[in-house]
Amino acid sequence: MTIRGLIFSAIVLAIVLLVGSRAALWYGRSIFAEPDVEVAQSVTGALNAERIVLVFAHPDDEITATELISRAVEEGAFVATVTATRGEAGTQYPEIVAQEHLGVVREGELRRHGFALGLDAQVVLGLPDGGVAEAVSEAQLTARVLEELVRLQPDAVVGFHPPSGVSLHPDHMAMGRAALAATQAYARQRGEAVTLAYTLVSRPGTQRFGGERYARVADLQPDPDFALTVDASLKTRAWRIHASQADYLRETTGVPAWLLYRLWTQEYYAVRIIEP
Ligand SMILES: [Zn+2]
Repeated sequence: MTIRGLIFSAIVLAIVLLVGSRAALWYGRSIFAEPDVEVAQSVTGALNAERIVLVFAHPDDEITATELISRAVEEGAFVATVTATRGEAGTQYPEIVAQEHLGVVREGELRRHGFALGLDAQVVLGLPDGGVAEAVSEAQLTARVLEELVRLQPDAVVGFHPPSGVSLHPDHMAMGRAALAATQAYARQRGEAVTLAYTLVSRPGTQRFGGERYARVADLQPDPDFALTVDASLKTRAWRIHASQADYLRETTGVPAWLLYRLWTQEYYAVRIIEP
């Protein structure tokens, strides 16, 4: 082959690889994208809030909202998390500590991640992992979350959609119900409307890859009201900081985090206005 022939072949090969990988990426992303959701440019605008409190169940739940948190912080909002448990009953991926110390380690991972995101406050309620709804009554749990809302004074609360809870985890659903009831009581006390946003999964993606449980989550979830385009490095950093969960995605879905977030590139939220 002549030099010119070699160059020509190399160019053709480069074009094929480029077009092929772009097409693969485009196809992969189309699998995960919720159709026709408005992409929000401003979190404080989408939530109509300068103070935002996120209510979760476990250390690592906040990974569902890395983009929302980091943008809100960038936009100058006050952002805080309330996490129900220390995650002491979790499975380790990989095992990095004796199970009896996992709660301390995971609370540390959570706080370190929150610090990296620039959170203004992090509250850990210390309820039993896997047994939130058994440890306290709904009224007690609501009162505990309400106490934090009154202290932190948010204009918007972000939490789990109660019936689907991102994964149907009972702790997620319990915290979703508590966040809803506490936000209703807080809006009444405040005499002003409060935004409540639910963090959602990608229904097309989970329907395809999530098995029966996630197909049920997708069925129960409301339509998203806005999406945020995700900085994938925030997600992969989050899993790195959560060292006891670093391989969670690969172990449970077969897809490594870096690849999953090349394809799943948006966070989705449904918004409710809670009137006083
Ligand atoms: Zn969780």
